[in-house]
This record gives sequence, C-alpha cells and structure tokens, in this order.
Amino acid sequence: MTDHPSDSFGLMTKALRVGHHRSSEGEHSEPIFATSSFVFASAAEAAARFSGDTPGNVYARFTNPTVQAFEERLNALEGGAGCVATASGMAAILTLALGLLKSGDQILASRSLFGSTQMLFDKYLSRCGISTRYVPLDDLEAWQAALEPRTRLLFIETPSNPLTEMTAIAPLAELAHAHDCLLAVDNCFATPALQRPLEWGADLVIHSATKYLDGQGRCLGGAVIARDPAVVAEIFGVVRTAGPSMSPFNAWVFLKGLETLSLRMRAHSEAAQQLADWLNAQPAVTAVHYPGLPSHPQHHLIGQQLKLPGGILSFKIRGGQAAAWRLIDQTRMLSITANLGDTKTTITHPATTTHARLSAEERTAAGITDGLIRLAVGLEDIADIQADLMGGLQ
Ligand SMILES: *Cc1c(COP(=O)(O)O)cnc(C)c1O
Repeated sequence: MTDHPSDSFGLMTKALRVGHHRSSEGEHSEPIFATSSFVFASAAEAAARFSGDTPGNVYARFTNPTVQAFEERLNALEGGAGCVATASGMAAILTLALGLLKSGDQILASRSLFGSTQMLFDKYLSRCGISTRYVPLDDLEAWQAALEPRTRLLFIETPSNPLTEMTAIAPLAELAHAHDCLLAVDNCFATPALQRPLEWGADLVIHSATKYLDGQGRCLGGAVIARDPAVVAEIFGVVRTAGPSMSPFNAWVFLKGLETLSLRMRAHSEAAQQLADWLNAQPAVTAVHYPGLPSHPQHHLIGQQLKLPGGILSFKIRGGQAAAWRLIDQTRMLSITANLGDTKTTITHPATTTHARLSAEERTAAGITDGLIRLAVGLEDIADIQADLMGGLQ
C-alpha cells in the first residue's frame, strides 16, 4: 500500500520509496510518530477499532505509523506477505517461536548459531517443552536423518557467524515442506540487498535490524517476515499481546538505514573481498574464511543465492590465543567490540567473547579455534585497516 505501483520497482527504489504514506503536511522525509496511543472521533469509532471491525491505530504496542512504514519497506525488500517489527533480533526469534510452536514440538537448527539464539532454544524454549536438535549446516542428509514427526521448524543462519559457512536454501526448504515443517532463515549477515531467502523457498526470514539494517550501530531492533499471511497474523498476535514491540524512533533510524542498504552492502563486500585476499597472502595467517574466496566450500553460491559475499570474514593466525589477542591489542583504529554491520570496522576474538559460553570441545567441533579472529569490515580506507592489522601480523 503505497502511492506507487511498488511491486514493479527494483530493490533500490523500494528501499527508498515504499512504506511512507505522506501526511497532509507534505513532508518529504518520513516522520517519527512519537505517540503511544491514538485518538478516536467517537465512542463508536473506538469500539469499532478495538474490535477490529475498522482498520486503524489503537495503541503503539499494536501498531505505530513509523513502525509500519519500516515493516512495509522491509517486507517489500524481502518479498513477503507481511513483516512484524520487534524490539531486537532476539525478540524476533522468541516471537516466532511463541507464535508458531507449542509444547512437544521440536526445532531442527544449524549447529553454528548466534550464541543467544542457541541459549534461547536450549535454556528457555526447552522450559516450554520445545526441544532443539542441532545439525551441520551444509549436510542435507543429516537434516533428513534428524527429522522426526514432532519437528515443526527448521532454523538456519547462512552465512553463519563467524566462519561464514553457507548452505543452499532451496533443497532445505523442499525437505521442510515434504515433512510439513517451516524453514526460517536468519538473514542478518546477508540482508535482502544480497540474499532473499523467500525466493529460494524459505517460509520465514529473521532480522536483527541492529546490524546492517541500521548500519551505523545506533539502535536495537528486529523483524520477522513471512510468506503466508496466516503466519504473519500469528506472529503479530504475539507482539501485540506480549509487547516486544519496536520503538518508533528506532523504526525511523532503520527506515533511513534501509535507504542506503544496497550501497553499503556493495561497499562492505568490496572492502571485505580486498581484505580477505590480502590476509590470504600473509605468512602469519593460516586460514581465511570468506564466501568470496574460491577456497570457500560454498563459493559456488556467490552470484546466485548470495549476490555478493558480504562484509564479514574471519581468519586464523599462527600462535593461538596469545597471538590473536596480541593482534587485537595492537590495533589503534579498529573497534574491539562484538557488534557487526557498522560502518566502522569491528574486531572480535570469538573463542573468548561471542562463543565463550561453549565448552572447549563444542568450540573445537564448531571450528572456533583459539587463533580465530572475526572482522566485520567497515567503510574506512582499506589501507588504514591493513596498517592497523599489520602490527599483529608481523
Ligand atoms: C545480533 C544477532 C542476533 C540478535 O540480534 P539482537 O538485535 O542483538 O537481539 C541474531 N542473529 C544474528 C545472526 C545476529 O548477528
């Protein structure tokens, strides 16, 4: 629902033009509706709005025009039937689970998941009688073998964190549908600028808007996009009732972020590719994990499912944790922080931060070795990033 025939627009145009319904003030930039409730013309109108007989805003836990503009725009980019915005990426995953699963159901998830997602599944959803089994991301036979009658949801991240493992979405979607399950893809690393999971058969897309959708590390937010309107309604029902709703101010920041998403993802990809090639040639580096390198096991997905390889890479250096920490501590410009998707390059030691909660055996199984360093490549001059890394590489 826009002023334009938006379905025919390209991705860049949609990111700029969809979702804003200009008010009678004629504003050019999207307004922030900083209001928690909405006023009715009469008692009868209030009753009709509450019952749902007439559409319109009631209360900002349910809907807010700025949040709806973000939802419409992101939905247009992912090509779904609808989008539900949430207070964070984790709130999106919790909302999805509460909306679609019940006690006795099982989730099949890829093994290398975002740490808090795994914690949510293992510690909290398990208390509701929802169990989770983990499967290697790119092993279709293992997924098939792990399916049980009680499996309801398949959940993956592609590319994954921090090793940028990938898998083809279409065969997994086919497997899920053959067993009456839904497939959810956490599209945080790729964003719709580089990968549109619904086009490949996925049923649900998860976002941490905190990352590339914002793009400048300012606000926390998340979203669920679904292909089926009935699924959208279930998920919206949870947000409206339980209240993990997105703030209108954050929605406005994300709206502005979406306007430059394609440009940024192209620039992040280009910079990360240059850096991956350069790291590959360093004697102190024993491995580089980046989808844009021909040595990456799923490199063939680049230009197909994943348009460009994205901005995240990781690499191993000789000398284990001591050498990795030394490299990180010798940087002067890079930000030592766990966040990613920022215009500023961030550097992380996964084994002692994002993946510290795993046991040593679990980390080894997941390939998170002590010498591994993750870079979320930003938009500084490449020469300056290289100079900052050089201290620890010599
Ligand atoms: C950050 C992140 C999340 C969680 O998002 P928050 O906005 O921090 O709650 C989920 N999945 C992935 C892949 C992430 O990187």
